[in-house]
Amino acid sequence: MTSPADHLILRQRFAEIARSVVLAEVAAIEDYHWPQKSLQALADSGLLPLAIPKRFGGLGAGMTGMVIAGEELGRISPSASLCYCMHVVGSAVIAAKPSELQVEKYLLPIVQGRHLTTLALSEPGSGGHFYEPGSRLERAGDHYLVHGAKNFVTNGGQADSYVISTLSEQGEAAPGVFNCLMLDRDTSGMEWEGSWRGLGMRGNSSINLHLDGARVPLGNLLGEAGDQNWYVFEVVAPYFLIAMAATYLGLAQGALDLAMDHLKQRRYAHSGQSLAEDSIIQHRLGELWIAVQQARLLIFHAAERGDLGNPDALPFILSAKVAAAEVAVRTTNEALTFTGGSGYRDNSLLWARLRDARAADVMAPLTDVLKTWTGRALLGQPLLS
Ligand SMILES: Cc1cc2nc3c(=O)[nH]c(=O)nc-3n(C[C@H](O)[C@H](O)[C@H](O)COP(=O)(O)OP(=O)(O)OC[C@H]3O[C@@H](n4cnc5c(N)ncnc54)[C@H](O)[C@@H]3O)c2cc1C
Repeated sequence: MTSPADHLILRQRFAEIARSVVLAEVAAIEDYHWPQKSLQALADSGLLPLAIPKRFGGLGAGMTGMVIAGEELGRISPSASLCYCMHVVGSAVIAAKPSELQVEKYLLPIVQGRHLTTLALSEPGSGGHFYEPGSRLERAGDHYLVHGAKNFVTNGGQADSYVISTLSEQGEAAPGVFNCLMLDRDTSGMEWEGSWRGLGMRGNSSINLHLDGARVPLGNLLGEAGDQNWYVFEVVAPYFLIAMAATYLGLAQGALDLAMDHLKQRRYAHSGQSLAEDSIIQHRLGELWIAVQQARLLIFHAAERGDLGNPDALPFILSAKVAAAEVAVRTTNEALTFTGGSGYRDNSLLWARLRDARAADVMAPLTDVLKTWTGRALLGQPLLS
C-alpha cells in the first residue's frame, strides 16, 4: 500500500513521461507502431514494478497506482497506457503467489526494469468469455506441451513473457477453472501471426499467437492445483478491469482537454465571441465534466477497496470498467461535436480518441456481461451461471 503523498509523486512521474516521451511518440503510435520509446522511458524511470509488492523490491502501488498511471498515460496516448497497464496486470498476477524460481526469473528482472510481461487470455473460440479457454496442456517429462491459440495479445511479440491460460491437464474443466502459466519469449512451438491493424488503439500490437506444442517448463505454472479460480477472480480480473478502467478514464479526460482547448481558442469573426462564452456549450461541458468525475471517483474507490482487500470490493471493480467505457465513448463523441468541422475534417487527435474509445465495450469482460455480474455480486449469486 502507498500513501496519498506517494500517489502525488507517482502522478508527477507518470505525467512527466506522458508529456515528454509519450507525446513525442503519439504520431508513430497512430501509425501502428508499438510505443517502444514510451515503454523504455517507463522502464528507465523504475516504473515497471508498479504493482509488485515492496517485499519483492517493487513499488507496491497496487491498483490505485495503476489508475494514476492509466489516467496520466491514457490522457496522452490510450495505446501506450494499455500496453503499460497490461504489463502491470501481468506482473501483479506473477507476484500474487510466486515460487522462488518465479521471483528470480520474472519479478527480479521487472524490478530491475529489464523485463516486460503481458496477459494473453483471449482465444478465438471463446471470444469475450476469457474465462473459458480451449487451449490445453499435456505433461511431457519436465515440461508441459501447450496446444491452442490466443488472439488480441496486447504487447504481442514485444513482451519478454506472457501470462497465458489453459484448461487443466485432464482437458475438461468447469467454467473459470483453468491454469495460468508463464510462456517465455521465443519458446519453441509458439508462433505470432499477422500485424495489428485495429480501428483504434493502433500502437497495441494486439496480435494472434499459435501454440503448437509450446514447451513450457513445469516451474512456469503459477500457483498450485486448485488455485485457478482464486487467480481469475482475485487477481487477474480485478487488475485487468482496473487497468482498462484507468486507460479509458485517461482517454475521456484527454478528450475533454482537447475539447476545452478548442472551445477557448475558437472565436467567431462576426461576433468576436469565443465558443467558451456560449451558455449552451458551458452547460453541456459542465454535464460532461460531471460524468467524467463520477466515473473517476468510482474507479479510484474501486481500486482502493481492491487494494485494501475489502470483501465488498467486487461490484465496485466490476462496474468501474463499465463506467469508464461508457464515459469514454460519450466524452469522445461529444468532444468531437464541440470541435465541429475542424475536428471532423482533419486527421485530428480527437478522431483518434473516438476510435480508441470504441475498444472499451468490446474488450472483455464485455460491458453487458459486467453489468450482469455486478447484479449477481450484489445479490450474492455466483458470477458464472
Ligand atoms: C484493442 C484490443 C486489445 C486487446 N487486448 C487483449 C489482451 O491484451 N489480452 C487478452 O487476453 N485479450 C485482449 N483483447 C481481446 C478482448 O478482451 C476480447 O476477447 C475480444 O475483443 C473479443 O472479441 P470477439 O470478436 O471474439 O467477441 P465476441 O465474444 O464474439 O463478442 C462479440 C460481441 O457480442 C456481444 N456479446 C457476446 N457475449 C455476450 C454476452 N454474454 N452478453 C451480452 N453481449 C454479448 C458483445 O456485444 C460483444 O462485443 C483485446 C481486444 C482489443 C479490441
